[in-house]
Order: sequence, then C-alpha cells, then structure tokens
Amino acid sequence: MHINPYGADPVNLAADLANRRPSTAAELAERCGAAGLVVQTAVGAADLDRLATTLDAWEKIVDASDEHERAARLNRMLAGAAAYPRLTDHAGGWHLHYRDDGRPLGEVLTALIAVGTAMHLSGRGMHRLRRCAVTGCAAVFADTSRTGRQRYCAIRCANRDAVRRHRSRASTGGDRSAHPHLSTKR
Ligand SMILES: [Zn+2]
Ligand SMILES: [Zn+2]
Repeated sequence: MHINPYGADPVNLAADLANRRPSTAAELAERCGAAGLVVQTAVGAADLDRLATTLDAWEKIVDASDEHERAARLNRMLAGAAAYPRLTDHAGGWHLHYRDDGRPLGEVLTALIAVGTAMHLSGRGMHRLRRCAVTGCAAVFADTSRTGRQRYCAIRCANRDAVRRHRSRASTGGDRSAHPHLSTKR
C-alpha cells in the first residue's frame, strides 16, 4: 500500500479493521492483502494482539473530545510506531516507508495507521473522523466527502435514518408531501 498524500487508504483500512476486527491471523493477512498492503512477513497471534492494542488507541483518537486531545493521542501513537521516513522501490516505483524494513505486520500496520490518520486529518481536516450518526450503529468512518459533512458510515445507514425520521414525522402528523424523496408506499 502506498500512502497517497491524504492518507485515505490507510485510514479507511483502520476503520474497516476497527469496525470488524479480524479474528484470526489468516483473516488479518487476507484483509490487508485485499486492501493493497504487501504482506512480507509471516502473520501470527502477536500481530493480532498488536493490532488490537493499536485499534483500541485509535478508537480513542476517533472519540477524542476536541482537536487537541485528538492530536495529542495521535502524536503518542506516531511516537511509538513510526520511524523516520525513507525511500524504497521494493514493489516497483519509489515511495516512502514510515518504518524499518522487515518489521512484523502488527508494527507495520500501526505505523501505517498512525501516519495515514495524521495525513488524513492534517490534509482534509481534523474533524474528519467520526462515528455513524445512526443510533445503534457505532461504525467509525473517515470523512473523505467533498463537503466534510458526511454523517453516516454507509448509504444503508443514511437510508435507515431517513426512513426513521420520516416515520417519526408522519406519526406526529408531519406533512409527507414535504419529503418527496421518500415514497409512502410500502
Ligand atoms: Zn512499500
Ligand atoms: Zn452506520
């Protein structure tokens, strides 16, 4: 995985892993591979443990109460995970790595998540990391929308919330015709 200047791929991978934590090392390796991360070492239980610790800390970054707390938590993760950047062409094409070569996947992921999240927040906006607005859906997402006001983790949740709001308006005598985007047919 090559980190683009805005860190979208790593931060999306972090959200995916946090929302649905891998239960085996094989699953972790498989999902990293599917996300475009070149896995060069054997993956084991220690990697799962390291990832779990990282994701716990990362969710605290998501849930931070303000930008400064968010930055402080992320800076701690960067300090513990990321080494100085260096140029490499191991996969064809020069790009930057933010860790030493030959590290286990758990450490590689931690550095990738920390740097990718920092790039995403500094490039797109410190507020662009949050949980879905639907009650009962705690999914985390990185807001890469144009406006920076994405409220839902997925279209499915946006639709669910629109239906719920429509029903509560309808049951309190709201005007259905004011919401032409929602069919009243079942
Ligand atoms: Zn690389
Ligand atoms: Zn959701």
